[in-house]
Amino acid sequence: MAETIFLKIIRKEIPAKIEFENEYVLAFHDINPQAPVHVLIIPKQEIPRVTDLEPGEHAKILAEMVSAANIIAKKFGIDESGFRLVMNCNADGGQEVYHLHMHLLGGRKMTWPPG
Ligand code: 5GP
Repeated sequence: MAETIFLKIIRKEIPAKIEFENEYVLAFHDINPQAPVHVLIIPKQEIPRVTDLEPGEHAKILAEMVSAANIIAKKFGIDESGFRLVMNCNADGGQEVYHLHMHLLGGRKMTWPPG
């Protein structure tokens, strides 16, 4: 599979507005925001899709992704009002970039069902 744009962002080869980083994850603002807060949380390890996750092997990474989401939600003051975490998988899930990522969306009332 061809290298994704997110790997270039991890290597700081292309710019992104970074909100959080540790040894496991990087979080940066989506280039095409769908809500007042729209941050992408990605693992530094190259994992293409949700379907590539193995509970034993990747539990720590998933926990770090959720933990980063909580830190960022708090930073933007949306932890109490609420937010949405989304992981699109494959074509019907609407996945465009094949490097695992979690969308943190907030700052407005989300609708259900999603489109
Ligand atoms: P997906 O549709 O794969 O779940 O989401 C990919 C997301 O990555 C999209 O919301 C898109 O706007 C965002 N995105 C794609 N390329 C870039 C980029 O170069 N920089 C940033 N910050 N976001 C990007």
